[in-house]
Amino acid sequence: MYEGVVQDLIEELGRLPGVGPKSAQRIAFHILQSDPADVGRLVFALTQVTEKVRFCTVCGNVSEQDQCRICRDPRRDPAVICVVEEPKDVVAIEKTREFRGFYHVLGGAISPIDGVGPDDLRVRELMTRLASDQVTEVILATDPNLEGEATATYLARLLKPLGLRVTRLASGLPVGGDLEYADELTLGRAFEGRRLLDA
Ligand SMILES: [Zn+2]
Repeated sequence: MYEGVVQDLIEELGRLPGVGPKSAQRIAFHILQSDPADVGRLVFALTQVTEKVRFCTVCGNVSEQDQCRICRDPRRDPAVICVVEEPKDVVAIEKTREFRGFYHVLGGAISPIDGVGPDDLRVRELMTRLASDQVTEVILATDPNLEGEATATYLARLLKPLGLRVTRLASGLPVGGDLEYADELTLGRAFEGRRLLDA
């Protein structure tokens, strides 16, 4: 539709999640009309995250070091691990200040339609952690939607033989949505009211 590099930019932007062809075009023309210094800062931020940000070798959260800030914190409670889908869920839960344990980021949820099975997620890493840690409770805080529930059910069955307390966040969260869409108060209450799962 457009020539060369402009079209390339529109196509690259269009590959981002939630950006349709129209938005991609709008963002591209916004960039074209921007101050080169502003664009430079955007380019720098993109380069920096690509070069510097890695994933925590313990929990899978984003990190600039081998282990993330939470896994390095000695004041956290090693008895509880909260399992979430994405690093953004860690941020949402941290904001509630209700949780003082550690996290485990799966990197997604089980979704047969999208071809995502347990082997595509950091399930094996979770099992390894549970075998060697002093964990007594695992909180399954996957999203309150179809994929999140399927993942929680799968994990609950898998964890049952370990004799751990396996809990799921209380209802009251917006059903069908993402954990991050819940406000801090609702998410905090869901933590307090978490229920025991018997798989
Ligand atoms: Zn970590």
